[in-house]
Amino acid sequence: MIQITIPLNFLGTVYREIRQALVDMGEMFDLLEQPQEVADRPGAPALKVTGGEVVFDAVRFAYDPARAILKGLDFTLKPGETVALVGPSGSGKSTIGRLLFRFYDVTGGAIRIDGQDLREVTQESLHRAIGVVPQDTVLFNDSIRYNIGYGRADATEAEIVAAAKAARIHDFILSLPEGYDTQVGERGLKLSGGEKQRVGIARTLLKDPPILLLDEATSALDTETERDIQSELRMMGQGRSVITIAHRLSTVVEADQILVLQAGEIVERGTHDELLARGGRYASMWARQMAGEDEDV
Ligand code: ADP
Ligand code: MG
Repeated sequence: MIQITIPLNFLGTVYREIRQALVDMGEMFDLLEQPQEVADRPGAPALKVTGGEVVFDAVRFAYDPARAILKGLDFTLKPGETVALVGPSGSGKSTIGRLLFRFYDVTGGAIRIDGQDLREVTQESLHRAIGVVPQDTVLFNDSIRYNIGYGRADATEAEIVAAAKAARIHDFILSLPEGYDTQVGERGLKLSGGEKQRVGIARTLLKDPPILLLDEATSALDTETERDIQSELRMMGQGRSVITIAHRLSTVVEADQILVLQAGEIVERGTHDELLARGGRYASMWARQMAGEDEDV
């Protein structure tokens, strides 16, 4: 009996950890499909987040040595501020997110959070510090309570409910026949895109990370849902440092800093007003999007 119970418990734990790791990775929006390519330095300490300042210091990166992707990026995200990354497809926006998560190491320069080089701290602590709200939240075949609560293993029922309320999904959950015990996922109740995204927001609120990475890849959400979600995302960004891969005009307008990327370089930077006044690349992207052309800002 004992011989069987111990390994099964052990396997259960390992299974849960692996599952969590896979979903954390899977949630990296289009950061996905990346094998873990880096390892912790022996004896590396945990990241200590004091304010949540993110610095990209002359960051260079190439997936393949023959082709440079990021060609010396310099920017500082101050604690509590929002930086929006805009630029055409292939300009390197998602790569910046992958590097912040340290799915890869930079090939030149450094990325620092509150003065600590990402290569010098444990990945576990790094991943704990950064919340991701993916465009398409992955649901487990489990209760909706589990799906929210897994964002933090030790969350209490009251905390789960508070997170669901803040993400404005609590009332919807109560309207379900089995409330928080309702089974969701492929084999349970299918949630709409907006509902799934709210589950993702609730998870992230529960995790309470000082740094947020948002991908606003255009989705199947209707305009009204999108507007609602937008206000929840804005609420979630309060008091956190936010890097957003922006497609929605409203986020860009409000960002403290907009970085316009082109082929792995920052070609313009500033606030929305500053960039419009400059009449450069951002201004023409903006004009095209206002004219209704379906293009990333
Ligand atoms: P964006 O998010 O702005 O569309 P990405 O950061 O995804 O751009 O991609 C930047 C460049 O890196 C593109 O040319 C893309 O083809 C290339 N790239 C992205 N992922 C990989 C990868 N895993 N291996 C090789 N090249 C990649
Ligand atoms: Mg991308």
